[in-house]
Amino acid sequence: MKKKLIEFRNVSFRYTDEGPWVLKNVSFDIYDNEWVAIIGHNGSGKSTIAKLMNGLLFPQEGEILIDGQAVNEETVWNIRRDVGMVFQNPDNQFVGTTVQDDVAFGMENRGFPREVMVHRIRKSLHAVGMEDYLLAEPYRLSGGQKQRVAIAGVLAISPHVLILDEATSMLDPRGRLEIMDTVQSIQKEHDLSLITITHDLNEVVQAERVIVMNKGEIWREATPKEIFSESAALRKIGLDVPFTTIMADELRKCQIPIENEPLN
Ligand code: ADP
Repeated sequence: MKKKLIEFRNVSFRYTDEGPWVLKNVSFDIYDNEWVAIIGHNGSGKSTIAKLMNGLLFPQEGEILIDGQAVNEETVWNIRRDVGMVFQNPDNQFVGTTVQDDVAFGMENRGFPREVMVHRIRKSLHAVGMEDYLLAEPYRLSGGQKQRVAIAGVLAISPHVLILDEATSMLDPRGRLEIMDTVQSIQKEHDLSLITITHDLNEVVQAERVIVMNKGEIWREATPKEIFSESAALRKIGLDVPFTTIMADELRKCQIPIENEPLN
């Protein structure tokens, strides 16, 4: 049986005591080596979930367990060794003057020994295809290259979970594809659980499972195929459904077979 790596148990969260609940009674599990996409309209609570997963925020109600350990002020540094995050804007994630300094930063924060750091910098830059850029200045890199370096920085701490929070949204379509390909092969090679947070339905096609958020609540938990068969409902909750999906859905309704997909 697959091991549960992340458990959200009836989690509710609000940013201020008097403010609105931005997550309401959210429960789900994420398993070892699984790729789960979390999608939803802007403001549906996706980023808040990501921040709760690595202890940047704590819930007022409910409980979050990472690898069986409850997330709280005492466990948060252990948790951050387990859960790595890459955010939307690569420029906000750079601190060093060279690529290798940047990759080292997360490890320095967590007190890794120097010899381990040197080895891991090379290994993780190799994993994202940036091994030739050790001494490059981060600000000279393209958006896609910057995100690769940010991913390398996270990989260097050997997390069990990698979260990409809208990490491709500032990239052009080619950059997006490249990052998603890189991440997918990393997930398989490093036995990671991968959580991709996006409002772009194109990015959920290859995930194993999709959690759809709507107004702070889980609207659906299903496979991409099941999710895509509900294009009208997805549009109603504010998601941009790709044209090809709408077409496929319409054709299915008319019983016109789609290539590689038998009607049943
Ligand atoms: P998403 O990632 O799906 O766009 P978020 O988790 O960022 O959604 O936001 C959920 C809700 O919480 C939104 O209504 C947003 O305005 C609100 N919110 C997000 N960050 C803060 C904050 N720092 N202070 C107050 N409200 C916030």
